[in-house]
Amino acid sequence: MKTVYIGIFLAAAAVLLGIVAVVLVIHITRTMKRMDKMLDRAIDGDFSEKMFTEAKLSRMETKLYRYLSAGKTAQNQIISERNAVKTLVSDISHQTKTPVSNILIYTQLLRETQGLDDSTKELLCCIEKQTEKLNFLIQSLVKLSRLENGIVAVTPAKNNVKQLLERIDFSAAARQKGICLTVENKSDVVAEFDLKWTIEAVSNLIDNAIKYTPCGGTVNVSVKEYEMFVRIDVADTGKGISEADTAKIFTRFYRAEEVKEEKGVGIGLYLAREILSKEGGYIRVASEVGKGSVFSVFLPKK
Ligand code: ADP
Repeated sequence: MKTVYIGIFLAAAAVLLGIVAVVLVIHITRTMKRMDKMLDRAIDGDFSEKMFTEAKLSRMETKLYRYLSAGKTAQNQIISERNAVKTLVSDISHQTKTPVSNILIYTQLLRETQGLDDSTKELLCCIEKQTEKLNFLIQSLVKLSRLENGIVAVTPAKNNVKQLLERIDFSAAARQKGICLTVENKSDVVAEFDLKWTIEAVSNLIDNAIKYTPCGGTVNVSVKEYEMFVRIDVADTGKGISEADTAKIFTRFYRAEEVKEEKGVGIGLYLAREILSKEGGYIRVASEVGKGSVFSVFLPKK
């Protein structure tokens, strides 16, 4: 008799355990499904707090829900900050354009006035140069800000390096300064880069090479192909860069002491490095004071 009771008790316990296990499995499956849904929504970028009732969620779900909500809030904040920068940048660009070009026009008109003495003419020339510099600086900052804030994107694609170098023409500037410019433009070397932005970066290097090389020097642009990268070298026989300056020239607004007389604002190399890093490449320099510099651009082949 006693054995029968024990048997009934054990059977009842087993049934109860079975029911508890089934209920637990159902509960866990539902929780997992809801968490899975939350994560899917977050991955697709359309997670919204309104889709889930916090009161009905388990502790773990609530934690995930709060984590995703915080992420969503931060994302919204980034979007609104980016929009604010976008507006500010386009405002600066539009609002400064007219006054700057007006200053240039009035200065030119003044310069054409009859009977001006030499010192007045010289002062007008200074105003003109400084205004042009200001204009260049504003345009560079606007470009940089657009790039850094993702307002304009660098979109690398398969492009021919020959096509890139063909679009850059500094022959007139080199001729004017008495510099021998040679471009070894190999055909059919392909890399992954954004054509427009890479033109901007390489142009800056060639412009600098001509600017910082004295009359009679040479500037040579060459292309080498490696397993992973295509390398473009811009070599000059100019003044060179000291070791101390080599570490600084890629920072914003840095200009070596000895080039202060030359035109420039110190933003070109910073912009070039930004562009290259955004397309998975890089830039480096080797230089010797008094002998010249070689700036090398590495474009990924992917
Ligand atoms: P910018 O030329 O307008 O001053 P960059 O950012 O292009 O600005 O260059 C930063 C600095 O790096 C220059 O001011 C100069 O001191 C140095 N530099 C760049 N290119 C060369 C070069 N080819 N030879 C010597 N110095 C250079």
